[in-house]
Amino acid sequence: MFNLQGIDRPDTNGIQQYSELLLREKERVQSQLNGRLETLHSGRLAVEDQAPVLHEQFVSIRFNNFAYEKIKAIDAALERLKRGEYGICEECDEPISEKRLMAVPWTRHCLQCQENFTAENASSGFQPFRAA
Ligand SMILES: [Zn+2]
Repeated sequence: MFNLQGIDRPDTNGIQQYSELLLREKERVQSQLNGRLETLHSGRLAVEDQAPVLHEQFVSIRFNNFAYEKIKAIDAALERLKRGEYGICEECDEPISEKRLMAVPWTRHCLQCQENFTAENASSGFQPFRAA
C-alpha cells in the first residue's frame, strides 16, 4: 500500500514536509524582523543615548537585509515546490541530498556547487561582513 519507489526524490509527502519547514522558517524570520522594527521605533531618546541607537540601527539594517534575503529565498523555494522543480541544483541539475534539504530547505544548490562558490569567493577576496 505504501509505495517506496522514488524515495530519493521529494514525493507528495516530502513536498508537504518541505513546505512546512519553509513556512515555519519564514514565520520565524518574519517575527524576528517585526521584533527588531518595534525596538527601533520605541520612543525618543536623549542626545547622549543616540550613538548606541545608531549602532543598533546599523546592526538592525544589516539583520533586516539578511532576513529579507532569506524570506525571498524561502518564497523562491516554495515556488519551486509548486512547479515540481524543488530539490534540483540550479547549477548542475543534480538532485540535492535530502539531508541538505532538511538542514537548509531554501537552498538552490547542492553541497558540491555551494562549496565551489565558497571556494571561489574566498580566493577572490570576497568579504561578506565588510561594511560598504
Ligand atoms: Zn550542483
